[in-house]
Amino acid sequence: MADHYEVLGVSRDATPDEIKKAYRRLARELHPDVNPGTEASERFKQVTHAYDVLSDPRQRQQYDLGGGQGGFNGAGFGGFGDIFETFFGAGQSTRGPRSRRERGQDALIRLEVALDDVIFGTHREIDVDTAVTCETCHGSCCQPGTAPVTCDICGGTGHIQRAVRSLLGNVMTSSPCGSCRGYGTIIATPCPTCQGQGRVRARRTVPVDVPAGVDTGVRLQMPGSGEAGPAGGPNGDLYLEIKVRNHEVFSRNGDDLLCTLEVQMTDAILGTTAKVEALDGDVDLELKAGVQSGEILTVRDRGITHLRGGGRGDLKVAVHVVTPTKLSHKERELVQQLAKHRKAQPPQLGHFQQGLFARLRDRFLG
Ligand SMILES: [Zn+2]
Ligand SMILES: [Zn+2]
Repeated sequence: MADHYEVLGVSRDATPDEIKKAYRRLARELHPDVNPGTEASERFKQVTHAYDVLSDPRQRQQYDLGGGQGGFNGAGFGGFGDIFETFFGAGQSTRGPRSRRERGQDALIRLEVALDDVIFGTHREIDVDTAVTCETCHGSCCQPGTAPVTCDICGGTGHIQRAVRSLLGNVMTSSPCGSCRGYGTIIATPCPTCQGQGRVRARRTVPVDVPAGVDTGVRLQMPGSGEAGPAGGPNGDLYLEIKVRNHEVFSRNGDDLLCTLEVQMTDAILGTTAKVEALDGDVDLELKAGVQSGEILTVRDRGITHLRGGGRGDLKVAVHVVTPTKLSHKERELVQQLAKHRKAQPPQLGHFQQGLFARLRDRFLG
């Protein structure tokens, strides 16, 4: 088969408009009613087919990638009819009847997951209300044991032809057959389960592997998990739009997990070890003597697993030293003793944003 671009005489990077213009010119020149003869008729078919493929973005992409001719799907038919209505005022007869078989619709479902779930990824079974191929007729649309019968109005072509005067002279035009709605056949005894649709509504459970590292707004595509097409047509795709629920302790910055740790003043002065309950198990944090409010302790590789490729983000813990507000009599005495031992140092002015904690808080909020 000749190259579609060569047939239309356009370059491979031609715009849709250039393709349309090239087709319009050739179709005028080669249309069988204007230019009778087998050679012109053959070329007309080639040109029409080439245009049919290249004018549909999906089919064109598939063709460019070297994949087949592009199936005869519903979209293809619709586009085809439109072209001829544009150029010749009505449908055309070089094409056979339309198929009942069409690809099913894509579906979009929102899936909420917890922050814990995205650290390592998770598995879910989700229920989807969708269309599935009818099990009684297996998509044939007919009561078992029966078959579609040829439409006797159009003789199975799906089109009714008639001669119409036009700018191009006397042109045979055709329009979809009203009796069979262009299918060329009639289902005399429809399947009782699906009423002749070839598919029924059903609740289906779809297993989903939510990968580690997904974030709110990520869409997962599950090819072939959308609804079944009419008359045994292939399934559309299912898209899952992820929403990650906010966690009451941990927040997320890229693949890092952030939290704060309240440390008592005395622990901050003397240093201590803190056991921290992270989302994936306990972490021992070493607090050096003299740790300051706003200091960030980084625990490597305890964040969220990266979406693409291995490795994890970090867990970042911001220290918040708590000044006690209520002291017992004894405690008060001890602190006063301590104060006497310390060299007096008046409070120092500094830049408002200078504190580490302020900067970290900005990052949390921003
Ligand atoms: Zn059925
Ligand atoms: Zn018909």
